[in-house]
This record gives sequence, C-alpha cells and structure tokens, in this order.
Amino acid sequence: MDKPKLKLAVYWGAACGGCCVSVLDVHEALFTVLEHADLVFWPIALDIKYKDVEAMPDGHIDLTLFNGAVRNSENEHIAKLLRKKSKILVAYGSCAHMGGIPGLANLTIKAKIFKRAYFESESTINPDNVLPQTHYKVTEGELELPKFYNDVRPLDQVVDVDYYLPGCPPQTERLVEVFLAIVTGAQLPPKGSVIGVKEKSLCEECERKKTENKLIKKFNRPWQIQDDGETCFLEQGVICMGPATRSGCGWRCIKGNAPCRGCYGPTSEAKDPGAKMMSAIGTMIDAKEPEEINQIIEQIEDPAGTFYRFSLPGSMLRRKICKNT
Ligand code: SF4
Ligand code: SF4
Ligand code: SF4
Repeated sequence: MDKPKLKLAVYWGAACGGCCVSVLDVHEALFTVLEHADLVFWPIALDIKYKDVEAMPDGHIDLTLFNGAVRNSENEHIAKLLRKKSKILVAYGSCAHMGGIPGLANLTIKAKIFKRAYFESESTINPDNVLPQTHYKVTEGELELPKFYNDVRPLDQVVDVDYYLPGCPPQTERLVEVFLAIVTGAQLPPKGSVIGVKEKSLCEECERKKTENKLIKKFNRPWQIQDDGETCFLEQGVICMGPATRSGCGWRCIKGNAPCRGCYGPTSEAKDPGAKMMSAIGTMIDAKEPEEINQIIEQIEDPAGTFYRFSLPGSMLRRKICKNT
C-alpha cells in the first residue's frame, strides 16, 4: 500500500508575504513535495477557511510552517489553533523566529502607531477621527475584527515551537532539505533547534579580507563609500551584522556586495545581536577620549533599528519603554 501523504500547512501572521513566496520558490521541487504531501491550509493560495482547520482532529497536520510575527488577536488565535492541529510547528522566517521587521514596532507603542497612521500621515483622510474597531454592526450582523496588540511577539512567545528556520526569507534550499528530512523519516534535530543554519558567525564563513586589529574613525552608510568588493565592510566603516549573525545563508548579501543586515539572527553563543554588535564595534573604534568615541558612535544611523532589525521582540530587550503620549 502507498505511504499516506503528509499533510502540510503554511500560514502568515504579521508578515510581508515574502516567506509565502519563498515556499513557491522551490520551483519544480514543488512537484516532488506534492508527490509526498497535500497542502491542507495555505491562505495565500488555497480557499480553506479557519472553520475547516478547527474541524480537523488535533495533530492532523504533519508540518506547519508559520511565517510572520504575532501582532494581533487573529495571529494569536491561529497560532494556538495550528499548534493544536500540528505535529511539527516550524517558526519559518525572521518574523516568526524573533519578530522580524514588524518587530521594530516595539520601538514605539500602539497609541503612537494609530495616531500616525489614522490621523497624521500624509495620505490619511479621516475627518471623523475613526479608529479601528474590534466589533462593528452591519446589516448581516455583528463583525468581530482582530485586536491590534501593543507588542509584536515572535511565535515562541505565544505557543510551543518545534523548530526555527530563520531568514528574511529563509533560503528555499533549506526548506526543501527540511521537508525531505521529514518525508524520508531522517533523524530530526532535537526540538527547539534552529535548522538550516550553522553554529558559527557569518564572519567566519565570509571570504572578504579581514585585517587583525583594524581601527576605524568613521562610520558610513553603504552608499557613502566606493566598496572595493573585497575588504570586510566593517573595516570600510560600513555596519555589517556579520559578527552577530548566524551563518547558513551562504553570505548571500555580501556576495552581492551588500552588508549583512542580520536576518538569520544571532548565534546561540551571541544571544543578543545588539549587545554582540556593540562589543564588536567597541573593539574597532580609533579613539581614546570619551568625547571622540561618542562622536564616532553617533555616526551610526539608527543603531536600535540597525542592530535589532530582525530581532527586537526576541532579543533580551524585547521592546522600548515608551510613554503613552
Ligand atoms: S521574514 Fe522577511 S520575507 Fe518573511 S514575512 Fe518576515 S519580512 Fe517577509
Ligand atoms: S563584518 Fe561582514 S564583511 Fe566583514 S567579515 Fe564579517 S560578514 Fe564579512
Ligand atoms: S547575509 Fe545576512 S542579511 Fe543577507 S541573507 Fe545572510 S544573514 Fe540575511
């Protein structure tokens, strides 16, 4: 008798859609996937309703790839539902892994986001000062709409996660490897592992030229220098998150002559990307006097957004403490 097909689900929480598209990027490998598996839930591609998922027995889905962070009550409800219905739940992509780009909203608060989006933005016309509602009466009945939370959370701050597959988006080859490991019954890594990655930092893998004890006096944005194509970006004064980032992507941005932005998250040893980057940069500043050190550090544009671009909610900081005004 043929082996029963696996049941797969893909869901997006607070996401840009890139992770869902990366699943499609498997190209012809999709046919191999579909030989072994049926997609039972994937809002971007299939018309399967939440009530259909609710009707599934617990543990019915073999593998769920959850991409996106948890930003509202709908994301949280579906995260809990899919946890119950799935044997293996993977936090897929930087947003589900550590909060990702949407997680930068933890540098402010809901009240300020709503003020800017619904009252102040150049493209907003809102003469009645309407704000999003969680309940709204229409002729057909009362609509219940998702509640926007104050905080963005990575998936594991809401439900138990089996594996993390980082990246913005993850490399498609890694997804195919994970899928084939499950299909073939290969030994899976211990629960809680970050998969499709290596333990060392990106700098250890990157082939750009590095000099011992190189010191820098000036930080630049990438467009402010003429990159020589071979010297370490940090040594050219451009912030590159390599020292604080896990390898596994094949240093793909650097091969394209762009500095790493840190989407694979920190190594298990570094834990907090901001702390690790500050310590890496601290050893490179070419100044002794506190004032001069400050002047050099102040050249780094948006340090919080740069060092925690993909990881603020999952970092040791989690969020900025803000006044409610
Ligand atoms: S990880 Fe990147 S590609 Fe995936 S949903 Fe988040 S922002 Fe989009
Ligand atoms: S800082 Fe960036 S460019 Fe320099 S070695 Fe590390 S990964 Fe490569
Ligand atoms: S080089 Fe950095 S930002 Fe680019 S894919 Fe790799 S980890 Fe992500």
